[in-house]
Amino acid sequence: MKLTVLVTCLGLLGIGSCSDEEPTLAPVAPVVVIGIDGLDPIVMDQLLADGRLPTFQRFADEGTLGRLGTLSPTWSPVIWTTIGTGQDAPAHGIENFLEPETSLPFTSNTRRVPAIWNLASDAGRTVDCAGWWITWPAEPVNGRMVASYAAQAQAKIIWKPTLWREMEHQTWPPKLATEIEPLLVMAEDAEQLRPAMRRAFPIPEQLDAFEGRLVNDMAWTHAADLSIAAVTGHLLDTGAADLTLSYLALPDVVGHRFWRYHSPNDVSYEVSSEDLAAFGDYLSLAYVEADRMLGELLAKAPKDALVIVLSDHGMHVDPETKYDADALTSGHHEDAAPGIIGVLGPPAARWGNLLGDKQRGEVGDVFGVAPMLMHLLDLPVPEHWRGAKGGSIPLERILDESWRLAHPITMGPSPDADFREATAPQLPGEGMSDAFFESFQGLGYLDSED
Ligand SMILES: [Zn+2]
Repeated sequence: MKLTVLVTCLGLLGIGSCSDEEPTLAPVAPVVVIGIDGLDPIVMDQLLADGRLPTFQRFADEGTLGRLGTLSPTWSPVIWTTIGTGQDAPAHGIENFLEPETSLPFTSNTRRVPAIWNLASDAGRTVDCAGWWITWPAEPVNGRMVASYAAQAQAKIIWKPTLWREMEHQTWPPKLATEIEPLLVMAEDAEQLRPAMRRAFPIPEQLDAFEGRLVNDMAWTHAADLSIAAVTGHLLDTGAADLTLSYLALPDVVGHRFWRYHSPNDVSYEVSSEDLAAFGDYLSLAYVEADRMLGELLAKAPKDALVIVLSDHGMHVDPETKYDADALTSGHHEDAAPGIIGVLGPPAARWGNLLGDKQRGEVGDVFGVAPMLMHLLDLPVPEHWRGAKGGSIPLERILDESWRLAHPITMGPSPDADFREATAPQLPGEGMSDAFFESFQGLGYLDSED
């Protein structure tokens, strides 16, 4: 890092000495990354053909939309941390949902290597981050962090980050917590959440216990997404950072829970016509809702921004539960079904929709994202990162050639040794698990205790 600073300083000043002052970084166009868990290329391609995803269609019309290769085992906290760090699980240390020694959810202090928000901050770029996996407790950044704790992991109900009113260290700076408070849609606030859900999904008046459980899981995630989308919109509205990162989850949870209704021929039991009428469109509607939220964020992104939308994996029928009509889960992705990546904005290549293109459709993989972000921020890419082997970033075929020619990649040394020590997972506070159960049941969709 120090060497890089010196070289930059010499280069900028053209002289043989360098003061102790921070070098002035050349401004860069803002980069906005919207992560959406579990978006599947095949599902998306069909919905684009049906004209149901107007925002994603803009990526197809004015940028590039392709498949993003992923990891196996395909666990979301692992992949989102790989996307954020450029490194694999043995290196970054987030190897699953729960830390094996303590059986507690991984927390940000357990991460062994710096993430893009640390590196960009250290280099003087501004970073805003909302809802990203394994970011609680919020780390100090040169910008704003709304952290997420996988509290659902404790309850073993669903596995998505969410927001808690009572939880400490949820934002950086700490005073940001009061600022975002009015934007939060809390899952236990049925009066606030239900109208928003009903705008997106036709929820039947009568639900049996099983259906209630499925809808309940969806409700929890929908509330988190509405909150994070509103927070991200606020961050963009109030002075967009050089790098904005945001994470939404609805298509993943709906994919896991409602796949049998989306694609009834995939399962070996009969899905009733009543169920199909009630829930057959839910997965598509989750994509439509994600498209709507993405559209709102796109409207708030700076005009010169590069907007990147990506998912960590795709989704298909769960081979283990396809014979089991009572299984909670019918969608699955553990075999590294590819996700999607789209780019829109001045440096985006205009390859159009490549989702269904067998030859050229897989434009890169999850290891390419962090190096591409470093490059877009005009920062040196750590030379040991897998997605930048040999000084080139294969994923960057989704960036326009003229931009790439004008911006040669700078490689740098590994920053890992300078990063703080990893420590054991932290607990968000006494009684948080109990509070979780209470608020979850408060939704009113849950009839059984399991
Ligand atoms: Zn995922």
